[in-house]
Amino acid sequence: MNALRKHGPIYILLLAAILGGCANHGLLSALEKRNVILFLGDGMGVSTVTAARIFQGQGQGLAGEEHLLSFERFPNVALVKTYNTDAQVPDSAGTMTAIMTGEKTRIGVVGVSAEVNRNDCAAALERELPTLLEMAEDQGYATGVISTTRITHATPAATFAHTPNRNWESDADLPDRAAAEGCRDIARQMVEFDRGNGIDVMLGGGRSRLLPRDMADPEYPDRTGMRIDGKDLVAQWLAAADGRSYVWHQSQFKNLAPDAPGQVLGLFEPSHLHFEADRNPATEPSLAEMTRFAISRLQREPRGFFLMVEGGRIDHAHHVTNAYRALTDTVAMAEAVAVAVDMTNPAETLILVTADHSHTLTISGYPRRGNPILGKVETTAGEMAKDSEGRPYTTLSYANGPGHQTERADLRGQDTTAPRYRQLATIPMPVETHAGEDVAAYAIGLNAEQVHGVMEQNRLFHVMREALNLETP
Ligand SMILES: [Zn+2]
Repeated sequence: MNALRKHGPIYILLLAAILGGCANHGLLSALEKRNVILFLGDGMGVSTVTAARIFQGQGQGLAGEEHLLSFERFPNVALVKTYNTDAQVPDSAGTMTAIMTGEKTRIGVVGVSAEVNRNDCAAALERELPTLLEMAEDQGYATGVISTTRITHATPAATFAHTPNRNWESDADLPDRAAAEGCRDIARQMVEFDRGNGIDVMLGGGRSRLLPRDMADPEYPDRTGMRIDGKDLVAQWLAAADGRSYVWHQSQFKNLAPDAPGQVLGLFEPSHLHFEADRNPATEPSLAEMTRFAISRLQREPRGFFLMVEGGRIDHAHHVTNAYRALTDTVAMAEAVAVAVDMTNPAETLILVTADHSHTLTISGYPRRGNPILGKVETTAGEMAKDSEGRPYTTLSYANGPGHQTERADLRGQDTTAPRYRQLATIPMPVETHAGEDVAAYAIGLNAEQVHGVMEQNRLFHVMREALNLETP
């Protein structure tokens, strides 16, 4: 009270300055800053989240089960139905299209409506769906796309591209007929993106899809680009506007000022980035480092920003039934989420963490509390659990995939916690498949209260659109 009496006039002056400033448009828009950060764990089903939580906790010396990943502390959670319009068990192209456009569509297509058949270029050109990122650019927001996969892969592609086949990443992948009908490959759509002032930060892998077949890769001189049209899309992107920077190595990335103006393209591998377990921090940034940089850059924009961050290789590790790499990549994404929470104000920022679809990973077999999540099941009595044929088994396994063994190996001599170990799978398949049960969505901040109950996946688009106050075109 004393302070108020003493400094009362100053407070009143301050209040007057703030209120007066509100009439000024600049301050008003500064006050109305709105941001959305979407974290997409590709293939990060609920069993993956549970296993990663235990894995990270055990890495910190805890039993593990009581631990929480960064985003599991968010106040709002929903279950999300992931099916595609024509598929009970979906893929990333259809699901990310639902999240980015508000409309569910077919498996395998990107940014086009459900009437479009796979590979039908002419129909796709007629039925493009506007994406949240395009709307954000049109309406003055800054935008960013980050992925540990190729930047032209299905999930990042669904933020900016429209194609009836997710595999048309470079022109070498595009059938002659589609090219003749006017369809462009995903890499070309990315560098020719003409909404607003263009995507402001793009970080990930996949530079081979942007470079011509006769050009050596800068990092691996024995490898070349993949394009057959002779185009160097990196050079084209750099030349299309002033102030743009391109980096392909951690040392160059570290030299970029986080708060400088100008747009940034960083492509750190010819194809996907490494799994977190294999990443060399001297050559390749982590998902958390890329997230920190992108937020620093995008935060300069007065209106606010939309940023999509994909932990894209959780899915790839699951596809080969390698739980170790799926869990370490999930933990890496949780660390990136923690960076975003630290750097942003929940009053002006929605952080949404979800998955596009699940995988067939299961956690089973009555292991004792604190049993290593990648280990063989040990019972609550402290004994090695045995299956009906008297052999030990692991807590984690898959419903299908390359981990199938017709003659099951005896695990007694095997270290199932080793990074290279592939968990067993019931049904033999060359590649483990996605799973069709619901995934979770976790939300904090602006409009987060809209994330609750059982939601159709395309509803997440509207939660983000409303958070940014975007008008639909
Ligand atoms: Zn997949």
